[in-house]
Amino acid sequence: MIPAGANVRTGSSRAGQAGGQRTCVACGVKKDNDELVRVTVAPDGSPIVDWRENLGGRGAHVCPSAPCLTQAMVGKKLGRSLKCEVRYGSGNDLVLQLCMALDRQLETLVRSGSGARRMAMGNDAALEALRSGKALLMLVAKDSAGLERYTTLAAASGVPLRQLSDKAQLGAQLGRVPTGVVAVLEPGLAKAIIRALDRRASFE
Ligand SMILES: [Zn+2]
Repeated sequence: MIPAGANVRTGSSRAGQAGGQRTCVACGVKKDNDELVRVTVAPDGSPIVDWRENLGGRGAHVCPSAPCLTQAMVGKKLGRSLKCEVRYGSGNDLVLQLCMALDRQLETLVRSGSGARRMAMGNDAALEALRSGKALLMLVAKDSAGLERYTTLAAASGVPLRQLSDKAQLGAQLGRVPTGVVAVLEPGLAKAIIRALDRRASFE
């Protein structure tokens, strides 16, 4: 069976390659590598989410969902795959680790967009980008007074909109004054932010 969405990311270098799929140790469903999160163990046996897939040692793969991450711990599913003693702590350890990793990734993505002409920041620039068709994603602070208006305008233009942190935090991440709205102009960045935000939202 082909998992839903398996062929969507044709840009993935791993798509279609041998070894590009792994099986979730919790639910047993086979998925593309980048639809799963890698878990490895610290020297003391504690499971750790290897979000960047740059930690050595054996790894197990788990769906980035609360049920599978919890079942991997509660059902003690990691040990066999990792072929080592695993110290199963609290059932939601991996969920918490993944949420923190996603928060860090989002912050890094937003920071990386500032000052590189990859984002139009602030009301005037963001609306101009939307009007001219350059906006690929609208990011709106949760406390922005213009949220309703941006939502209407983005929907009319067929541009996705996501809410993100608050004005003070968004501005701080971008190295500028409190910011209520940002238009993302670069396709890869927009895609990465949407992916991380939607994945993070699935844990709330
Ligand atoms: Zn799973």
